[in-house]
Amino acid sequence: MGQQSVSAYAREHGVSWHTANRLIHEPEAPTSDPPIPKRSHQGPDLRLYEASHEFHEAHFKIGLYGDTHIGSAYEAEGERRAFYALCHAEGVTALYHAGDVVAGNGVYRGQIHELRPDCIGAQAQVERAAHDFVDADLDIYFILGNHDLKWWMDYGFDVGVQIENAAQGLGARRTIKCLGQASARINLGKEPCQCVLDLIHPSGGTAYAISYRAQKIAESYTGGDKPHIVSIGHFHKANNLPHVRNMVAIQPGCFEWQTPFMRGKAIDAHVAGCILEGWMEEIEGKPSLVRMRLEWAKYYAPARSAAG
Ligand SMILES: [Zn+2]
Repeated sequence: MGQQSVSAYAREHGVSWHTANRLIHEPEAPTSDPPIPKRSHQGPDLRLYEASHEFHEAHFKIGLYGDTHIGSAYEAEGERRAFYALCHAEGVTALYHAGDVVAGNGVYRGQIHELRPDCIGAQAQVERAAHDFVDADLDIYFILGNHDLKWWMDYGFDVGVQIENAAQGLGARRTIKCLGQASARINLGKEPCQCVLDLIHPSGGTAYAISYRAQKIAESYTGGDKPHIVSIGHFHKANNLPHVRNMVAIQPGCFEWQTPFMRGKAIDAHVAGCILEGWMEEIEGKPSLVRMRLEWAKYYAPARSAAG
């Protein structure tokens, strides 16, 4: 700022030139914490990441899915492609993946026997996932789940960075971006009426009721820090709670059929994905999700694992 504008500032605010100069040039005290680095290479980092996804319309239309476990011999590959095709047909602007993009290896004993023979290693799984994302031809944002993070735990291999790089190498035309490990916060749309979407991939086993964990997660949010929508991966369940503590809690299903490991533990796999359309409005100064439309794409187990 030049001498001229310091004088103008002084006149406008009725202060001396020196006071005006100090006010203009003194570094402002930080009003918030320093920005969180994009991604830590020091190890799993469970802080929330933020990504802005701008929609320019009065409402947004996004796809929610997760737990694709790419590289698993039980991948629901054709169904995943069908879901991408549906998203295209329905004019979805971006897909948000709730983690476990790849199958990993050694998450439980004997997992190696549940992998595709050509996807035993981290690099092979990453390349297969990158091909899948690029072929989807949609903007895809994802977080890492415990299966993705197993490669990090064991070898320091960052599946997120590797998928982004491999997708670039394949000439991806759309955005393919990792938003972090286990959780991310996304601001959909533009100020002042943004819709806050959390993607999370919690830990822990399946509960006695399908919606139980989603409800507990919704209850665990601190007041004032609640998103409008939380999409919860990990449990391989399709479930929607439209109004828990004013939030929408969704488990978006998975794209892996029930594995022998899951069958042994009596864990059901809900192969599904959903398209969520929402309308925001300001109510008493707060951006509020006032209307939403949720469409489920449901897929059924192939004959080999169907109960009949
Ligand atoms: Zn999973």
